[in-house]
Amino acid sequence: MSSAETSNAILTIDLDALVANWAYLNGLLEGTPCGAAIKADAYGLGAGHAAVALAKAGCEQFFVAQIDEGIVVRNCLDDAGLDGAIHMLSGPMPEFGKAVMQACAEHKLTPVLNSLADIAAWKSFNAALACDIHVDTGMLRLGLAPGELAAIAGDASLIKGLNISYVISHLACSEDAATAKNKQQLQDFKSALALFPGCKASLANSAAIFLGPEYFFDLARPGIALYGANPLPGQPNPMAQVITLQGKILQVRDVDTPQTVGYGATHKITAKGRIATVGVGYADGYMRSLSNKGFGFIDGFKVPLVGRVSMDLLTFDVSGAPHGAARAGAMIELIGPQVPIDAVADAAATNTYELLTGLGPRYHRIFKSENT
Ligand SMILES: *Cc1c(COP(=O)(O)O)cnc(C)c1O
Repeated sequence: MSSAETSNAILTIDLDALVANWAYLNGLLEGTPCGAAIKADAYGLGAGHAAVALAKAGCEQFFVAQIDEGIVVRNCLDDAGLDGAIHMLSGPMPEFGKAVMQACAEHKLTPVLNSLADIAAWKSFNAALACDIHVDTGMLRLGLAPGELAAIAGDASLIKGLNISYVISHLACSEDAATAKNKQQLQDFKSALALFPGCKASLANSAAIFLGPEYFFDLARPGIALYGANPLPGQPNPMAQVITLQGKILQVRDVDTPQTVGYGATHKITAKGRIATVGVGYADGYMRSLSNKGFGFIDGFKVPLVGRVSMDLLTFDVSGAPHGAARAGAMIELIGPQVPIDAVADAAATNTYELLTGLGPRYHRIFKSENT
């Protein structure tokens, strides 16, 4: 049923822009290969489409969070006749038996081993299959803890026989180029790498690519910048916008007496105004925190979102836009070239990660590419 005509909103994903962003980052890396974080369905944009487009462009290393994401990506690459390593960040989870490890073997997924327990389980499952090692250098989330590294330092047989693709770690504050924490983590990562002689290493996410070559190692694994977010807060965004979200105007209301708009009557029209109602809401991931803060563009005119964001509806003050443009059936740009994802995330008091991964299933999605 979903079609551009019948849907209340159209989400266009520009795969050429995605590939251009990857090529741009790849070019910054001075020969170090650039992978791609495509976890959470490529940050909500479609992991299969993203993986195929990037693999065609030469990307060979993909990162997902969970086993089912990895299987989807493997199937999409297979169907397209493409190959690539798919690394699974949440690891083999031996606590739940062998199911995850068996799925890794069956679908050619590389589990990231996050603890000595993971390592022991993978060794007894099948040490010959490729794995990664995650070293925690200051996130206290996943990865080998300092005590576990000390145990390996004391007994190298703990990791003997493993077929390690990459030793990885993750920065806590990569967007803050000035913080001492980056250097500390870099130092701790290098110390840990001494325990894995001859192994390749990977540290950099999107923002860390801009911290310089020290952070490159043998593979970068950017995510958010590929999808158009600014990896350099406070500076001009070097990335191309990847998504455009257009919401359809369902109705336009002319007001000539003082009235209020929406739930809670939080916006007052004091004299005259024109309100356009768009069929998108917080159920679609257009966050309620954008109430009285968001904005859209119609026909080159900026229009403020007024009143609260409802579950299925948004209200814009279109008094400043030409009547011919702001009419029922016309589209308002909610995210796109004139309404960048960074600006929307700021207005919503969140980050671009949460904004993108929250984009809902009701949008009609169009994957745009000149190259397919
Ligand atoms: C999500 C993630 C990335 C990508 O991070 P971005 O900030 O989106 O570039 C890289 N590595 C790990 C371990 C991740 O979880």
